[in-house]
Amino acid sequence: MSLNTSDRYAGLKLIYGEGLIEFIRTSKILVVGAGGIGCELLKNLVLSGFENIEIIDLDTIDISNLNRQFLFRQKHVGESKSKIAKETALTFNPACNIIAHHGNIKHSDYGLDFFKQFKIVINALDNIDARRHVNRLCLAANVPLFDGGTAGYLGQAKVYQKGYSACYECGGNRNAEKTFAVCTIRSNPSKMIHCVVWAKLLFDRLFGAVAPGDDISSGFEEILKESQDFENKILNKVFVSDIIELSQMKDKNVWSTGKVPEGLTEEYITKLEQSASTVTTEKVGVKEQRVWTIRECVDNFKKSVIALKKRRDQSGQTLSFDKDDEDALVLVTSASNLRAFNFHIPPASKFDIKSMAGNIVPAIATTNAIVSGFLVCEAFKTMKSIFENQGKEDVNHIKDCVWVDILERPITKSRKQTIIFPLVKDSKNSNCYVCSSNSVTVVANCDKMSLQKFVEDILKSKLALVEPSILANDDLIYECGEDLEENQIESIQKRQQKTLKELGIVDNTELLVEDFSQDITWKVFIKNNTKIEVEDFSVDGGNNATSTTEAATPAASTSAPTSSSETISLDDDENALVCVTDQEIQRKMLEERRNEFKRKREEVSENLSEDTNPTKVSKAVVDEDAILIDDE
Ligand SMILES: [Zn+2]
Repeated sequence: MSLNTSDRYAGLKLIYGEGLIEFIRTSKILVVGAGGIGCELLKNLVLSGFENIEIIDLDTIDISNLNRQFLFRQKHVGESKSKIAKETALTFNPACNIIAHHGNIKHSDYGLDFFKQFKIVINALDNIDARRHVNRLCLAANVPLFDGGTAGYLGQAKVYQKGYSACYECGGNRNAEKTFAVCTIRSNPSKMIHCVVWAKLLFDRLFGAVAPGDDISSGFEEILKESQDFENKILNKVFVSDIIELSQMKDKNVWSTGKVPEGLTEEYITKLEQSASTVTTEKVGVKEQRVWTIRECVDNFKKSVIALKKRRDQSGQTLSFDKDDEDALVLVTSASNLRAFNFHIPPASKFDIKSMAGNIVPAIATTNAIVSGFLVCEAFKTMKSIFENQGKEDVNHIKDCVWVDILERPITKSRKQTIIFPLVKDSKNSNCYVCSSNSVTVVANCDKMSLQKFVEDILKSKLALVEPSILANDDLIYECGEDLEENQIESIQKRQQKTLKELGIVDNTELLVEDFSQDITWKVFIKNNTKIEVEDFSVDGGNNATSTTEAATPAASTSAPTSSSETISLDDDENALVCVTDQEIQRKMLEERRNEFKRKREEVSENLSEDTNPTKVSKAVVDEDAILIDDE
């Protein structure tokens, strides 16, 4: 058989058949993100026959992108990523119809109707927040979602379809990895990263502007007013006397490391030096990668405190931490290590602490390329199923797809040479509040937490909602959006300052939380725990009515993402059947809840604005109906 050389898809058609390639060519797909993975992905897509692509990114091109985002050149610096990505990709395949959006995927312009246009959606994002938002819209629009991610040499390519796999959020709250409980940082660290976070807070406390709630130790103002010996006083306070005070709690079990912390007294320092000298010091050629001795940490701490105080006093301005500021980095490195010595945590080099303090993960073009390649392979399998099952409903289009993990190094002896692992897709987590249970349990201190904090920290930050409304005890207590009247905004603002308790939200209160922008209705069960700090709230999928409020701790209640590493089995029909049944029930339950919410919301709206603006109320109801009909 000879190839028709005038047809650029002749080869693909031989492999996949003309019908599928034609289908791929005419199907609309969405790429979210035009960065490291997005550029690779767009190039792969236009070269493999995807001709109808919309791409969205809110960023502009920075000079630091050019080493790996190959669709951009120096002359493009400052221009829209999606626009330039489109222009360059068109030179590879001028037949393509690419629409570039310079905007935020979380904006209401890109809502449910926008997502419903696409056969598949591919995420090439760099943040969890936007991924969670896209996950919810893909579930609502019932569009298969592909998600690629890399962190240095590590990478992942995954595919999700409503009812037939886990969703992106089934693994639990991924934000949990990035934030730490206040008490861990303030008094009970167990890892170097906890010490680094603390050291950055110490930097702010000494020389910067202090954020409320970050009060890790006080009394520095007085010490810093002195012109001499302030460095020793600070050292003695934070690494000796404060720690000795903490160590009064002698029960080993309360300490995460299992050891009682020790103040850096001369005696303890000598003991540490003696034990260090028995270990052969590893000779590392690079200066930055050598771990300082405890004496060096003490000296460097004092030197950097003196230098930074001088700089602050001379400029008369507060300083902010910058990983590329040598004095600041030396302070954070030495303080992190001294604290690590306090808490029996192994010390780390300036190089390692710099990457922890600056949240630096090197971006590696090769990993991006591998991930993008897999995303397109899996997209082909999915498009094949969509093509072959046109007109049918509830089909598992990702049946033949696998998840792929790219590891930095082989994990076991038996897999010596392997760094790319195909994995069985996780099945959905019945506790996942996004795709399964539609219910969330929140443990918080209702006596102290304000409604504003509940909305900002829990609903928006932790649960990734964009425009939440809250119905409590048959009252619409919070809503946001552009269509609010001025008097409504005013009363919401007043209410936001009140505590949950003052608003009647107490132990066992059941809230109904809605976010139309994500097509979400959740029951939120409140567990009041007055013994915890306001910041130490926790969130869990499902209704954990069985767990007593005292037993619930923030760290234990968020489950870590899991991924299976079993051998590949492509036959998951059984799971699929179970999922369909679940899905039916879930859909009915969601529908009931939504009607319930709608009814209550109408009642409340009528009561609120009966006299003021009747047309407004009826319009709102019509709008909601429109959304509901669209859902079918
Ligand atoms: Zn889920």
